[in-house]
Amino acid sequence: MADCIFCQIIDGKIPSQKVYEDADVLAFNDIHAQAPVHVLVIPKKHIASAQELGEKDGALLGKIFTVIKRVAEEKGLAEKGYRIVNNCGEDGGQTVHHIHFHLLGGRQLTWPPG
Ligand code: IMP
Repeated sequence: MADCIFCQIIDGKIPSQKVYEDADVLAFNDIHAQAPVHVLVIPKKHIASAQELGEKDGALLGKIFTVIKRVAEEKGLAEKGYRIVNNCGEDGGQTVHHIHFHLLGGRQLTWPPG
């Protein structure tokens, strides 16, 4: 998707601080970090939101969650824990319409969210 900023990051047209990459998944630091560790994990395939997911995406989601776990371990979060967030749609607070999972950690996170 030419006008999708995350597709442009995947294509290298917008710079990013990558923390993991393979043929299907990219992980990079969020530009406005909300915690000491704030990584976005995305599929390279353009999927607009969680609302577009289906059974066909099961293997891809498995890969994404494997990458989240791997990055969490590499960032030293596994022992104390971390949060995985997906914002879906307008009321969900989604601002970039390429599905992404926030991996947040490195401090005590509060609940409930705003
Ligand atoms: P959302 O609100 O769940 O859609 O999250 C979008 C996230 O993308 C926000 O946390 C932004 O800070 C982040 N973001 C937007 N543009 C960039 C960028 O160019 N590089 C890295 N993160 C970005």
